[in-house]
Amino acid sequence: MRDRSVLALPLRTVVAHRVRSHKEAVVRMTPRPDLLARLARHTQQREQANLRRRLHTIDRVDGPWIERGGRRLLSFCSNDYLGLAQHPALIAALKRAADEDGVGSGSAHLIAGHRRAHDALEEALAEWTGRERALLFSTGYMANLGVMQALLERGDLCVQDKLNHACLLDGAQLAGAALKRYPHGDVGAAARQLAQRGDAPALLATDGVFSMDGDIAPLAELAALCRREGATLMVDDAHGLGVLGARGEGSVLDAGLDQDDAPVLMATLGKAVGCSGAFVAGSASVIDGLLQFARTYIYTTAMPPALAAATLAAVRLAQSERWRREKLRALVARFRRNAQQLGLPLMPSSTAIQPLLLGDAPSATAAAHALEHEGFLVTAIRPPTVPQGKARLRITLSAVHQESDVDRLLDALSRALRALPV
Ligand SMILES: *Cc1c(COP(=O)(O)O)cnc(C)c1O
Repeated sequence: MRDRSVLALPLRTVVAHRVRSHKEAVVRMTPRPDLLARLARHTQQREQANLRRRLHTIDRVDGPWIERGGRRLLSFCSNDYLGLAQHPALIAALKRAADEDGVGSGSAHLIAGHRRAHDALEEALAEWTGRERALLFSTGYMANLGVMQALLERGDLCVQDKLNHACLLDGAQLAGAALKRYPHGDVGAAARQLAQRGDAPALLATDGVFSMDGDIAPLAELAALCRREGATLMVDDAHGLGVLGARGEGSVLDAGLDQDDAPVLMATLGKAVGCSGAFVAGSASVIDGLLQFARTYIYTTAMPPALAAATLAAVRLAQSERWRREKLRALVARFRRNAQQLGLPLMPSSTAIQPLLLGDAPSATAAAHALEHEGFLVTAIRPPTVPQGKARLRITLSAVHQESDVDRLLDALSRALRALPV
C-alpha cells in the first residue's frame, strides 16, 4: 500500500506574525508552505506517474560487463565509447602521478591547485581540437554553467536547440539571458529567433552530438548563420570528442569548422576519454576571459592532478589508436543494418548513441526489464529527460563490445519489443 503519511503532512503550518501598531497587536495568520513536504509530494507524484528514478549500485565493472545485485549483465549504457576507462595505461598513469603528487589538488586552480599535469593536459586538448588554448573544469555541467555566466549578461539572447543538454539550458537561465529554444535541428527557426532581436548580444549553443538522440547538429549551417547574424556559436561536444574525426578531434573539426567558426568549444573527459572532468577550448582571449570570469572555474577545487595525468594518457590513446573508432563505427553499422532488418524503431543516428524510440514510458520500462531478465543492461530514458511520448531505450555501443555482443543484444531486443502490448 502506498504511504499516505507524506500527503497528510501539516501544510498549514501556521505562523503568527505580530504586526506593529500603537493601538493593538494585530495577529496575522500566514500559512507558510513547508518546503520539505512539497518536495516529498513531488517525489510521490513521480512515483504515481511511474517515473520515479532509482539508484542501483554496481559491484564490479569488467569491460562491457557489470555485476549488480549478484547478476552479471552485458551493458549497453556506458558513455565509455572507446573502452578507455579501464585501460592499463590510464591506471598506470594515475598511480604514478598519485605516488608523486598525492590525491587532492589542495585548492582552486588560481590559488595553488594548478599543477604541471593540468598544464600538460590543457595543452594536449588545445592541440587536439585545433585551438589556441584550453581550460579545465571539474565537470561538463560546471563548464557550461561557467561559460554562459561569463559570456552572457542579463537580457542577452541565448538561442538553443530544444534537445540541448540540461546544463546548457540551466546555464542560460542562471546567467539571466533571454532563452529561446528552436525545434531540434531547425536552422531556419534559429535564424528567426536571432533576427527577432538583432540588436542584442547573442550566443547560439548546441550539442555537437545530441546526448539522447545520437544525431549530429547541422554545425556548418549554424556557423554560417552565426556569422551572418554576428552571434557567437558554442558547441558542447560531450559525445563527439574521441568518436568523430580521423583523430577523434570531434564534431566541430569534423564539420570543417575552426576556432573562428565556433569560438566556444566545450567537451567532457568522462565519456569517450574514459576519465572525468571537462574543458573549454578556444582563442587565447576567450580562455583568458573565462579564467577571469567563469565562477565555476574560479571558486572550485582543481581536479586531482593524478586524474589529469591519467586523462592525458587517455587523450594520447584516443588520438593514436584509430582501431577503437573504426571498431566502434563497424559495430554501429552492424547494429543499424540488423536492427533495420528486424524492424526495430531506429532513430537517425550515425554515432555510438543508438536509441530505439518506444513512445510511452511504461513500454520503455517494460522493454528494459525484459532485457535485464535476459542479461542485458539497457536504460529506459523517460520524460522529463526526453519529451513526453518520446520514451526510448538508449543503447550505446563501445569499442569494448564484440560483434557477437551486438548480435545477441539484437536478438533479445527483437524478443523484448515483440512482447510489448500494442
Ligand atoms: C554528459 C554531458 C554533459 C555534462 O558533463 P559532465 O562532465 O558529466 O558533467 C554536458 N553536456 C552534454 C551534452 C553531456 O552529454
